[in-house]
Amino acid sequence: MSHPIEYYEPVFTIGTIAKKIGVAVQTIRMYEQEGLIIPYKTETGRRMYSLFDLDRLACIRRMITEEGINIQGIKRIFSFIPCWEFKGGLDNDCLSCPAYYDALGPCWSLRNKGEKCLTEDCRQCEVYRLDFHCNKLKSVIFGHDDKHKEQK
Ligand code: SF4
Repeated sequence: MSHPIEYYEPVFTIGTIAKKIGVAVQTIRMYEQEGLIIPYKTETGRRMYSLFDLDRLACIRRMITEEGINIQGIKRIFSFIPCWEFKGGLDNDCLSCPAYYDALGPCWSLRNKGEKCLTEDCRQCEVYRLDFHCNKLKSVIFGHDDKHKEQK
């Protein structure tokens, strides 16, 4: 599903987004440190968040509070997203990138990214921006969609 540009516009401060999610500001910072979320940073270093970030954080909170998944577990789930499929296929660059064989965290949180991603702004990347719904994680990771259900 495509979203209007405003969906990705960083309009909320960290205090506002924390309030909307119902957590402390420190919790949002911790999610950032763990690589679950990438805030937009202004020239002065102020963190700002969008409606997309709000949906993402709501999903993360649901996984933690309702499904009993801890942060390490969420990082592992994110690490299964086949980013190479969005970056032109499994070439040598992808094969030598830790995102292909490492399951410790999502590609955007890795230090030694492949060349294709070295200079990219992950926050703008379609991999990071995959339509993010907790109950659609399988479709995100394995490419399943509702058409398969219709065919059955
Ligand atoms: S640009 Fe960032 S989010 Fe996109 S595939 Fe590369 S590491 Fe992952």
